Amino acid sequence: MSQSREVIAAVDIGGTKIAVGLVDRDGHILEREAGPSQPDRDLEDGLLRIQSMLRACQQRRPEAIVQGVGIGCTGPVDPETGVLGPNSFLPLWEGQAMRARVESLFGLPAAIENDADAAALGESAWGAGRGAARFLYVTVSTGIGCGVVLDGRLYRGVEGAHPEMGHHVIDSSGGPPCFCGARGCWESLASGPALANWFLSTAIERGLPAPAGLTAREICQMAVNGDPLAGEAVRREAFYLGTGLANLITLFTPDVIALGGGLMDSWPLFEEGVRAVIRQNSGLVPYQKTRLLPASLGSRTGLAGAAQVWFHRFGG
Ligand SMILES: [Zn+2]
Repeated sequence: MSQSREVIAAVDIGGTKIAVGLVDRDGHILEREAGPSQPDRDLEDGLLRIQSMLRACQQRRPEAIVQGVGIGCTGPVDPETGVLGPNSFLPLWEGQAMRARVESLFGLPAAIENDADAAALGESAWGAGRGAARFLYVTVSTGIGCGVVLDGRLYRGVEGAHPEMGHHVIDSSGGPPCFCGARGCWESLASGPALANWFLSTAIERGLPAPAGLTAREICQMAVNGDPLAGEAVRREAFYLGTGLANLITLFTPDVIALGGGLMDSWPLFEEGVRAVIRQNSGLVPYQKTRLLPASLGSRTGLAGAAQVWFHRFGG
């Protein structure tokens, strides 16, 4: 393709990886580059790496005209001021005015959101939430992140705060403590590490072999192969995943909930158990009408979401 083409420079900042790409108005990723996050380095160093990755993308697409920079970033972000909150993955970036620095470095308008909100916007525009007026995105991996998009607009709390639905409390008396301060929040019971920790501690309790370092994904595979304790871990996961989803259905009665994140690659293992809990718990709302769908952008989620952050703020 040789004619000029308007694109967004998308930046997806995660705990382990920073990805940069050129994304067009239809959510197609034309070029991408990625490198390690390097948490021991400061924001200025990160920006220079982002700039050089972006330059490499642009060199391969000389016809692309970059309109602006859209950013999805791990951890709390103030979308209005563009300042990063406390960030356990990138401690030296905390308190930095990321959006302003990007705008002055690139000379382009920039927009920034928390990565779960960015993914929610991407899925809402181009993925599983397309056409859904009331849309929730839930990602289940090392944590549980959520974003709410109503009539194409991201739901925000007071002063732009990102609601932390992944930390709503499910079992305040018996659940494990979480860094959020609560006991038995959804993430502490149903994230990938929660599944793996339960498997490990229960195996030790019962005197069963408990290889350290087993991941949730490996435990799901063991369940498929007939391991009884792994099967129990999967049923427990389905119960807590379903309890949280039933709560969201009762609270929001959305059209669609899209499920993303690494653990949802094993969704078929959990689906029946999840639906049983929803039937049991969400009887006062038309839960049958809420469609639970796998997120559909896959490896495009981060960059497409970051580009949609820009479109969401600046339109076009
Ligand atoms: Zn928590």
